[in-house]
Amino acid sequence: MKALVKDKAEVGLKLKDVDIPKIKADEVLIKVKATAICGTDIHIWNWDVWASKTIKPPMTVGHEFMGEIVEIGSSVKNLSLGDRVSAESHIVGSTSRNARSGKLHLDPDTINVGVNRDGAFAEFLCIPSRNVIKLPGSVDNEMGAILDPYGNAVHAALSFDLVGEDVLITGAGPIGIMSAAIALHVGARKVLITDINDERLSLAKSVCDVETMNPSEENLKEKMKHMGLKEGFDIGLEMSGSESALDQMIDSMLMGGKVALLGLPSDSINLDLPKLIFKALTLKAIYGREMFETWYKGLALIESGLDVTNVITHSFHFTEYEKAFELLNSGKAGKVVLNWD
Ligand code: NAD
Ligand code: ZN
Repeated sequence: MKALVKDKAEVGLKLKDVDIPKIKADEVLIKVKATAICGTDIHIWNWDVWASKTIKPPMTVGHEFMGEIVEIGSSVKNLSLGDRVSAESHIVGSTSRNARSGKLHLDPDTINVGVNRDGAFAEFLCIPSRNVIKLPGSVDNEMGAILDPYGNAVHAALSFDLVGEDVLITGAGPIGIMSAAIALHVGARKVLITDINDERLSLAKSVCDVETMNPSEENLKEKMKHMGLKEGFDIGLEMSGSESALDQMIDSMLMGGKVALLGLPSDSINLDLPKLIFKALTLKAIYGREMFETWYKGLALIESGLDVTNVITHSFHFTEYEKAFELLNSGKAGKVVLNWD
């Protein structure tokens, strides 16, 4: 089969012929139909410090995907050939305290598809049946391919009660934008998303009716006044990984406000701890998706009318992968899908 492989410890990926994976008793084989490129894949492509410490070439990469089940392991009970599926890309263990308590997303023994084992940028993928999610008809193939980052948005946005609340989201990447759409869909009062890239703010507007602001051009306090906010935002969703965005967020929160941190800074950052304490803020760090509550809630939101598909700006055939990675590296795209049919 064809697969996008990190062949050697260097920049880029290669399209190669590799063996179709052999499944174990508790696994299924999926014919991949659509995949999406994640920031993680960009790190792997660019072979940055994190990637060179983490990835062991040769390895097939990619973890955002959907496809169809074509083979089922002997002990798998709940899935059928031909099922349209996506899957949770974090494969958890079963022996840690958290795993045994059912807090699967907090298992320290987690390994990641396309990072620690062969991934989804291939014609076929093998994955434990426990990770598989059946897709309802309301989720098309391209949306099915971005359920993983959509799940990050669902997990972060639903961490706190948003009903009637004023929400600040810093970073209008795909995850920030999808979080804005979720916040509005579940009944937040005002939602503001900020980004230093105006194209990303326009993309946000094309997905949902969110207020936007470029902090390098506009003043946040003025914007808040204009939006009718008197004391500050109730909820903050940090989705940029930028130190200055987090600073600005802490500064503009209501006393006792709640902040979910999803954005990954590239290095350690300074935090104004005294300000945080005197404002009595609650901070929650978000990693991945809750297994499997996030998947149920995320699919339910789609079935109740939430539509974030405009966040997908480009799709390519997998043979055009170089063009797709170049486009994403330029910051001029939202989600980019690779089709494998
Ligand atoms: P992205 O890189 O596409 O988006 C980040 C956005 O933040 C960009 O549009 C950028 O212009 C913007 N930004 C930079 N500085 C800013 C500032 N000062 N103020 C406002 N915006 C600013 O990323 P994404 O795919 O949407 O993911 C969002 C973040 O979440 C990334 O940092 C990613 O690494 C991280 N992430 C975390 C998890 C997790 O499990 N915690 C999972 C996936 C992604
Ligand atoms: Zn991802």
